[in-house]
Amino acid sequence: MTKRIRQPIIAVLGHVDHGKTTLLDRIRRTKVAAKEAGGITQHIGATEVPIDTVRTLAGPLIKLWKGEIKLPGLLFIDTPGHEAFTSLRARGGSLADLAVLIVDINEGFQPQTIESIEILRKNRTPFIVAANKIDRIKGWKVEEDEPFLVNIKKQDQRAQQELETKLWELIGKFYEMGFNANRFDRVQDFTRELAIVPISAKYGIGVPELLVLIAGLSQKYLEQKLKIEVEGPARGTILEVREELGLGTTIDVIIYDGTLRKDDTIVVGGKDKAIVTKIRALLKPKPLDEIRDPRFRFDQVDEVVAAAGIKIAAPGLEEALAGSPVIAARSEEEVERAKEEILSQIQSVVISTGKVGVIVKADTLGSLEALSKELGEKNIPIRKADVGNISKTDVMEALSVKEEEPKYGVVLGFNVKVNEDAEEVANAKGVPIFVGNIIYKLIEDYEAWVKEEEE
Ligand code: GDP
Ligand code: MG
Repeated sequence: MTKRIRQPIIAVLGHVDHGKTTLLDRIRRTKVAAKEAGGITQHIGATEVPIDTVRTLAGPLIKLWKGEIKLPGLLFIDTPGHEAFTSLRARGGSLADLAVLIVDINEGFQPQTIESIEILRKNRTPFIVAANKIDRIKGWKVEEDEPFLVNIKKQDQRAQQELETKLWELIGKFYEMGFNANRFDRVQDFTRELAIVPISAKYGIGVPELLVLIAGLSQKYLEQKLKIEVEGPARGTILEVREELGLGTTIDVIIYDGTLRKDDTIVVGGKDKAIVTKIRALLKPKPLDEIRDPRFRFDQVDEVVAAAGIKIAAPGLEEALAGSPVIAARSEEEVERAKEEILSQIQSVVISTGKVGVIVKADTLGSLEALSKELGEKNIPIRKADVGNISKTDVMEALSVKEEEPKYGVVLGFNVKVNEDAEEVANAKGVPIFVGNIIYKLIEDYEAWVKEEEE
């Protein structure tokens, strides 16, 4: 078997409007890259920056690396509208090998910043901080795509001072949460200190350093984890389950181990079973300029090697769960083993206890697990925990609980929508629905309501 180091999988997270999408867009359009190196490859749900591109961008910053880079590139997860990457799981931990926590330097810590840090800490995911929107500092001189260390020298005294002040505020906040943080070029030991890279996602300032640091840290600290058996059967995690014109229900998957082949059988998690199916097609996005007909947005490939983002078309995926593992199997025995593994994982998270307790819904298996765990720690009983939008059935079930114990007759939803008929029934019958995209706030809102009801 051939061993190889794969691309680290990088998640970008942070509070809403702090610049996640802008940063990913910027990385996708990196100009220097397109001209002088391999350019950027678009995957399904991910963007790949080849290492040559990072090297070109690095220029004189290459000094920061101290040693050879053997990584083939960086794979950034970027499904739009999917803010909870942090809780996406893979065997033995988080799907993200490394994360970029983005903080608007002018707004500082916000609820989702804190929640992101908590999740990163729980999953032991290493991360670096991008202190974004430095161009908003009064009098800041913008130069597109410039390394921060070059750009900072062009700023006048006042602007430099203001940046320092804001950085120290951030460093103070991190200290309160138990982290020693510092501007990246002042970090002595990257295993003990959190590196902060000041950037402007909008103009690309500091993005070269950000990429170089991600590559350097991955190489240095994650090399063992990133070593894979290239030919082994693939393993991945479902980002999204999507209906596609002409293809039926498909799954968008990040493959983090092995090779997925067109003729493989795959096992994925479904509502209350493991789904075993044969792949119909492996699809990657066509280059944007080649899409002439929206029905033909994808190219078929025969195989993909980790790490990669790929769309899988196969029969029977209607019930597949976002966040579930995908395991390729090449023999009867492997199918059985995969089924067992996936079932045990689902059954530990998707539950229906019939107890008097709250109804819990979430967008992925991982976020459902995280929310259920928090509720457990607060001794809030759960009747049902499931992946998907809030349906009329959920409300009806909460209503039956309400008759026995009003304070548990509620539906809690994380990163999900409320179906229209569910909303109607809830309003008519007085079943409270709590939805949000910050776990601890969701629970706080619910607890505040319980308190109010008790008074
Ligand atoms: P997200 O919610 O974290 O994905 O945030 P977005 O990327 O959508 O950014 C929110 C808003 O902030 C948008 O209007 C962006 O144009 C703006 N923005 C993001 N990064 C920067 C930046 O570096 N400088 C400035 N001035 N605006 C930015
Ligand atoms: Mg966004």
